[in-house]
Amino acid sequence: MNNITIAIDGFSSTGKSTVAKQIAKELGYVFVDSGAMYRAITLFAIQNDFISQEAFDVASLVSELHTIELVFKFNQDFGFAEMYLNGKNVEKEIRTIEVSSFVSQVSTISEVRQQLVKQQQEMGEDKGVVMDGRDIGTVVFPEAELKIFMVASAETKAQRRYKELVGRGDKITYEQVLENVKERDFIDSHREDSPLIKAEDAIEIDSSHLNLEEVFEVLMQLVRMTLEDNE
Ligand code: C5P
Repeated sequence: MNNITIAIDGFSSTGKSTVAKQIAKELGYVFVDSGAMYRAITLFAIQNDFISQEAFDVASLVSELHTIELVFKFNQDFGFAEMYLNGKNVEKEIRTIEVSSFVSQVSTISEVRQQLVKQQQEMGEDKGVVMDGRDIGTVVFPEAELKIFMVASAETKAQRRYKELVGRGDKITYEQVLENVKERDFIDSHREDSPLIKAEDAIEIDSSHLNLEEVFEVLMQLVRMTLEDNE
């Protein structure tokens, strides 16, 4: 059976990563969470005082981009890959609300995007990859055999994200999460470089009224059909 490329784009907290991870596992494909890469660069910007509530020093971040090494390393115990920033495991740190509150701003910078898109394309060179993000079907893999675009209501998204963060022990209110989800979706879909838009040939799935198992089933059917078409 020929390996294919699966691009899963969409708004934040629509269940993209969870379902992309499950599909990759089912098919024995590589899973790449491209958002983790944007989050790691954001963490780097915070650690180096390039970004704060008061200011964003874009020039300094851009001049230091060449010093950033991002690597996904598979964790046998958890069964998924974790993000390493310059040799350090930052999987937990990149998921905080602080990183979430700056990541969309950092993701508007073209130099950041160019560096990450290049790395993502290299990771998908041999196909057999499931990548989730915002511009995978439009920019990273415009030739992907299967493109999915995930949407959900703002409240569903915030509810899911809130549960996830509280489950991890974060001290946060539902309103803060809702605000962040709305703000990120707005910035992501209005930025100049590679905005979040549905590729013409993407299939839209609204996960507002589906649980994650149901989303997985719908996607697996599409995957099977695409694999048959590509035999
Ligand atoms: O997927 P996740 O919610 O972790 O992504 C975090 C942020 O990274 C998004 O809100 C967006 O600003 C940025 N991103 C992007 N392009 C991608 C993946 C993520 O701009 N392909």
